[in-house]
Amino acid sequence: MFNHDTILAVDDTKENLDIILDILEDFDVIPLTSGKKALELLKNEEVSLILLDIVMPEMNGFEVCKILRSQTNTKNIPIIFTTAKTDEESISKAYEAGANDYVSKPLKRSEVIERVKTQLKLKKTIEDLEFLASRDSMTGIYNRRKFFELVNELFKESGEELFLCMIDIDFFKKINDSFGHDAGDLVIKLITKTISDMLPQDSIFARIGGEEFVAVCKKPSKEDTVELFDNIRKKISTLKIDYNSNDIGFTISSGITQKRGVTKTIDEMLKEADLALYEAKSSGRNKVVFR
Ligand code: GH3
Ligand code: MG
Ligand code: MG
Repeated sequence: MFNHDTILAVDDTKENLDIILDILEDFDVIPLTSGKKALELLKNEEVSLILLDIVMPEMNGFEVCKILRSQTNTKNIPIIFTTAKTDEESISKAYEAGANDYVSKPLKRSEVIERVKTQLKLKKTIEDLEFLASRDSMTGIYNRRKFFELVNELFKESGEELFLCMIDIDFFKKINDSFGHDAGDLVIKLITKTISDMLPQDSIFARIGGEEFVAVCKKPSKEDTVELFDNIRKKISTLKIDYNSNDIGFTISSGITQKRGVTKTIDEMLKEADLALYEAKSSGRNKVVFR
């Protein structure tokens, strides 16, 4: 069996680690002898699951588990306690500390394997659902909900290098009315793909309405940002889709704003960008306006 999942096994007794390595021979297992070493490793490494002993010197499993649950990068890793303690109080404490499951020692081969597989499957399902819940199904870019989640984080940690651009397709209703809704969908997909390809890698780009998009990126200056979105505007104005022997062309308008000293929230930036977009629309469309 080929498996990409890395499992971290933490136990102060070397013999126990050997047993785990033997049971999980089909998995990629990193054995460590203390919680401290585990916490150290997890600063830089990603693992899919942790098998954690409870009774260990220095730091016990409950303490390690609580720390893991409090850190952003480790809080969702499934943790299975491996323990000789099967009294009710210990089991409750394990779950209270944030355990997903526990297996009792002496470890039984098939029980460990099946519980590990169950947790890995659950983790994968949650990740798949989170992906779906964060995307716009038609274009694959972020949806409105995910946009606000990501952008609020970025807003907090950014200064004046943060720019926000609202983008709206011009006279889109006409495309739907003339060529049908399916043609309109193709236009939305092509525009989205074109913008995605032209934005810097670390930008946040989302579909926040039917034919409305928003991009947030870090740029050294207003001039750089306007140039980027004007290049995008120009590029899109040259594209055509071939639909039932019709060449359909289209344009976009954009409104850009910058985070300034006085900007308190991302909503303020959205309002400013919306006003800039309105200006772009009312002054002729196929334009980029900064304010
Ligand atoms: P403006 O230049 O002022 O933005 O004009 P517009 O026609 O683009 O704007 P308006 O807001 O009047 O119309 C937007 C249209 O976009 C109306 C709606 O039916 C259409 N639309 C919204 N979502 C979708 C979609 O997912 N697919 C398609 N094909 N059309 C959509
Ligand atoms: Mg429009
Ligand atoms: Mg609109």
